[in-house]
Amino acid sequence: MPVFHECQRCTACCRWPGQVRLPGEEITRLANFLGLEEPEFIQRYTRLTRDRLGLALLDKSDGACIFLEGENCAVQSVKPQQCRDFPNLWNFPGFEKTCHAIPRLVGADEYARLVEAATGRRPPVNVPRVDRVQPGE
Ligand code: SF4
Ligand code: SF4
Repeated sequence: MPVFHECQRCTACCRWPGQVRLPGEEITRLANFLGLEEPEFIQRYTRLTRDRLGLALLDKSDGACIFLEGENCAVQSVKPQQCRDFPNLWNFPGFEKTCHAIPRLVGADEYARLVEAATGRRPPVNVPRVDRVQPGE
């Protein structure tokens, strides 16, 4: 049976080293949400990814995401897909040590329903249990 991890909004993953990649459509969505033109959004909130092939969200000086405000995400309703997908559609070995998501053993249909509700996407038939992105990548 698949395991669905129920996020507890502890915000640990918003403080880890790493990067939140922003595909073009997410830049548009975030800029619209903040009432900014895209060039201004890019200048204020993004940097190059480490491979210099795209854009990622800026970090604050303490390493937390630029959009983390206290215990809340300032762009929760339009947060990037990478944030929505963790930890059910990507994670890394040992993530449970710092992520407080509660693992729940569920049936396949319930798993698909819960993942879609959490991420907006149907899970692949065989959900990979390996990391897609590592903190610090
Ligand atoms: S965009 Fe929101 S959910 Fe994603 S890392 Fe930043 S604060 Fe966390
Ligand atoms: S995914 Fe895990 S680390 Fe991130 S906010 Fe939810 S419980 Fe915390």
